[in-house]
Amino acid sequence: MSAHGSDAARRALLLAWPAGHSLSPAMHDAAFRELGIAARYEAREVPPEGLAEAVAELRGPGVLGANVTVPHKEAVLALLDGLEPEAAAIGAVNTIVRADGGLRGANTDGAGFLRALRQDAGFDPAGAEVLLLGAGGAARAVAHALLGAGAARVGLHNRTPERAAALAAAFAERGELRVLEAGELSGGLERADLLVNTTSVGMARGGRDPDVSPLPAGLLPRRALVVDLVYRPARTRLLREAEAAGLPTQNGLPMLVYQGAEAFERWTGRAAPVAVMRAAAEAALRPS
Ligand code: NAP
Repeated sequence: MSAHGSDAARRALLLAWPAGHSLSPAMHDAAFRELGIAARYEAREVPPEGLAEAVAELRGPGVLGANVTVPHKEAVLALLDGLEPEAAAIGAVNTIVRADGGLRGANTDGAGFLRALRQDAGFDPAGAEVLLLGAGGAARAVAHALLGAGAARVGLHNRTPERAAALAAAFAERGELRVLEAGELSGGLERADLLVNTTSVGMARGGRDPDVSPLPAGLLPRRALVVDLVYRPARTRLLREAEAAGLPTQNGLPMLVYQGAEAFERWTGRAAPVAVMRAAAEAALRPS
């Protein structure tokens, strides 16, 4: 007998390629259990040529919604029926919600980032001078969120300056964005209230800390809160150097938990058990 449509078949999916080391299944399954919701979170390996079929499957019975990650965050837009305003502005979707008989795309990365900043680091971005390292998908979500939260100025520094220029141009009407070349980095660090690493530099490869920083040797902000979106390892070289210089720091785990909580709330209509999700993510990160 088919279980479709019954509680037992309810599920949220992750569409990724590869899906290997995601913390999302542990985090969302813990939240479903905590609230007594009979549903499961399943990670799917979806190659680019299989994305349309995987999205079509989300329209079937029992599916609460999905997360979308590398490399599908932009390609998925064309396969959905509607977008929340943030997702449309950022041009990327990390969450799909069943709504009005169709599929709506959301981007919860920016909201997750702001919640981590405010609730866990006690930092209010209104009026802040920000320096962002990177210009990829995460940088777009973070820049969009910070400008929406009233940041005074956002400086962008990226290995590929053209990508930073494209980001600055895309959000020019939302606030003051400026591309910083390598020679302007030390001045930007001097002025910054907040430094955010949105690059993947420092992320563990093959389970090992690469022990590299996205900042050139010897350069650190003078007084900024230093946030690294990387959470594996928990303390990247950037965060260790910032701590050693007496600067406050935050890694990417709070943002990961809150972006997941924002997705969970859209799928279930229930307040996400954030502490349970965080504990599950931390446990999944620990080497077994
Ligand atoms: P992406 O779109 O591929 O962008 C990658 C960024 O990293 C680009 O700015 C790229 O610069 C830069 N980069 C990569 N390798 C580099 C290197 N060797 N030297 C200098 N710059 C380098 O990726 P994304 O989706 O934005 O994700 C970026 C990071 O954020 C990842 O580590 C991801 O895990 C993390 N993230 C965390 C959360 C969270 O919840 N904590 C959420 C989203 C993303 P170029 O433009 O020059 O290639």
